[in-house]
Amino acid sequence: MAANSVRVAVLPGDGIGTEVTEATLAVLERLTRRYGIGLSTETLPAGAFHYQATGEAFPEASFQAAKSADAILLGAMGWPGIRQADGTEIAPQLDLRFRLGLYAGVRPVRAIPGVPVALADPRAGGIDFVLVRESTEGLFHSRGTGLVTEDMAEETLRITRATTEKLSRFSFRLAERRAARLGRKGRVTLVDKANVFRAFAFMRAVFDGVAKEFPGIESGHHYVDAMALDLVRHPWAFDVLPTENMFGDILSDLAAGLVGGMGFSPSADIGDEHAVFQPAHGTAPDIAGKGIANPTATLLSAAMMLDWLASRGAGGAFAEAAAELEGAVDGAFATGLRTADIGGRDDTAAVVRAVSDRL
Ligand code: ATP
Ligand code: MG
Repeated sequence: MAANSVRVAVLPGDGIGTEVTEATLAVLERLTRRYGIGLSTETLPAGAFHYQATGEAFPEASFQAAKSADAILLGAMGWPGIRQADGTEIAPQLDLRFRLGLYAGVRPVRAIPGVPVALADPRAGGIDFVLVRESTEGLFHSRGTGLVTEDMAEETLRITRATTEKLSRFSFRLAERRAARLGRKGRVTLVDKANVFRAFAFMRAVFDGVAKEFPGIESGHHYVDAMALDLVRHPWAFDVLPTENMFGDILSDLAAGLVGGMGFSPSADIGDEHAVFQPAHGTAPDIAGKGIANPTATLLSAAMMLDWLASRGAGGAFAEAAAELEGAVDGAFATGLRTADIGGRDDTAAVVRAVSDRL
């Protein structure tokens, strides 16, 4: 990737996906001018309404353009009542995950100062951990192909050594970077159910093997049920939490609830070559079209994207811009920005203004 010629494919999708994407592109434009970083965007069609209009949810041309870009920024896709002919949901983001091998679903969970949270312990510091959801196998392995007969249904849980090693290595490297940034010892905790399923005992053994490569980082395990309890009891105790696909799906919604809701939950789906950055939320039909969607999750996802591009050789200015964007979001909420999802009156445009003013 040549510095100053980074190409980002943008898939706004449906519902508030288009609104939070537009807001984020406006902020990114200001940021790229301010930092003199060359970043061009190309908006591509895909999603439920595109399916309704054309019979295609994710045109091959959009997929290829996304694949050849340096990074992919996605809004959200899907709409109630619009389903593919076979009855399955319209979810091009899942196609991207599987076709581009995006095994690490990274969900940072950080309480933004000023945003009301349900739990806090001033002595323990704020909530700041990262879920790393395996995103290509686990209980999603038989997605859409599970066996269903008149009398029973069966889905497959698959854990492979290769993917578990990659997921584990990714998690330990992330813990190293966080430890350096936060000035504390890093800790990686695998979330599993090794007491019941042989597949998870296998996952644990593979994880433990990788842990030996990272003696500077603490490693441990936690059963998923106990983790659900402890994330509510003392979420500030955790650092990096790799886990199986379905567990990660569920825990990431729980985790979003800890820090203000879906509007504050960024995410990235990262593979060896490609990465998709998107808010963890969906298209929110109940508030779509009203201009009140909270774009914070997408703004923070864009910051993750700039940081990832920097790590891929786009240049230090991208890392600086990422930190600046995150700082601007924090600053806006610290000084009173309050979006509708946390009981305030600030709409999408107000967030764009408040964040842009701080860049
Ligand atoms: P999916 O099936 O894609 O996970 P979902 O049905 O779980 O979608 P979401 O769209 O993720 O639903 O969000 C659930 C609700 O949370 C929405 O209906 C909306 O009220 C609220 N919500 C989600 N994202 C935002 C946002 N960015 N700003 C404000 N409210 C939001
Ligand atoms: Mg959901």
